[in-house]
Amino acid sequence: MRDFEAELAERKKAGLHRVRRRISGPQQPVLRADGKTVLSFCSNDYLGLASHPTNIEALQSALPTTGLGGAASHLICGHHDAHHDLELRLAEFTGRSAALLFSTGYMANMGVISALAGRGDTIFSDRLNHASIIDGCILSRARVRRYGHGDVEALERMLAETAGHKVVVTDGVFSMDGDVAPLRELARLCREHDAVLVVDDAHGLGVLGRHGQGSVAELGLSEQDVPILIGTLGKAVGTSGAFAAGPAMLMEYLVQKARTYIYTTSMPPAIAAATCASLDLVEQGEARRSHLRELVAEFRVRAAALGYPLMPSHTPIQPIIVGENWKALALSKALEERGLLVTAIRPPTVPEGEARLRVTFSAGHSKEDLERLLAGLSECQNLLYATEDSL
Ligand code: PMP
Repeated sequence: MRDFEAELAERKKAGLHRVRRRISGPQQPVLRADGKTVLSFCSNDYLGLASHPTNIEALQSALPTTGLGGAASHLICGHHDAHHDLELRLAEFTGRSAALLFSTGYMANMGVISALAGRGDTIFSDRLNHASIIDGCILSRARVRRYGHGDVEALERMLAETAGHKVVVTDGVFSMDGDVAPLRELARLCREHDAVLVVDDAHGLGVLGRHGQGSVAELGLSEQDVPILIGTLGKAVGTSGAFAAGPAMLMEYLVQKARTYIYTTSMPPAIAAATCASLDLVEQGEARRSHLRELVAEFRVRAAALGYPLMPSHTPIQPIIVGENWKALALSKALEERGLLVTAIRPPTVPEGEARLRVTFSAGHSKEDLERLLAGLSECQNLLYATEDSL
């Protein structure tokens, strides 16, 4: 047997051990984590809808008619009216012909990618794509060619020298960097090289674009440009689950072929009903989005003035790259001692040597919350220049 215990000890020594904090109460900026009250800057609840009373009420009022569990997969007897209604609503919301629900974003990426490409085909994947995209590529058994982050020229060369069926897949907003993929250029290349473009807009949906339609809409791209759009519902939408959206024929293809759609229990239908309610709030959420943009803009100016190295991101994901694992952990710990929850992100989630604090903002944060974060960062500034021995 492998020495699992030694591996765990090794990870700890390398600063790679991960811990779970236990949250009590609803998700919101001020949280109880491991019994302590903290101000959190690490959730993906970008619009502050995860605990919104309208959504909770929608869930409660759906339960008597839907019951609790999905009870079976969609193709057996788990496809409820509430799922059907949500698919129609998602198609309308994203301006797509049709949509298909998945139980999680992880499963949407795994299922879509492995359905669209197989042995003998080639998938082109951005180097910083989310783990679920990477795993979808592996599951597909297609040849995978990774291109440098956002490197359109490298992708163009790869596409030109590859024959056969091609799929290009990218995050819309990159989950650990917060930047937006060069979607217009990717759409053009896919048109020119007859490749299918798949965009996972987990972090753009609800946040960017008119009515929160996402990064694809913000760049004026339609279903013709991006035939498969993936969105998750557990982030800005504040509930749970995910979807693919695009031409009805492709959605039908996924129903037949996507294994993570076929072989899993449908999401609880009451969650689907609550998600429909939440999409109304997302659509009408311009005030939330503009408040969020203001928080982000103010943070960027003032954190940079404190000497914190930021990334070129205009989204609520504002990473502070510190490099070494121990430094990210030390900063996160020092902030936590000041009542601020900002998680350290380390390899393999990010490349080696690019450990970071991943600061995320929510429309639920107030200006005072931002001031508290900046005051904490100001007090911990010296850690940026510390050496491991000096701690
Ligand atoms: N795609 C991206 C870009 C993500 O960041 C995540 C979750 N962190 C997912 C997909 C997976 O979504 P879910 O949490 O619904 O499984």
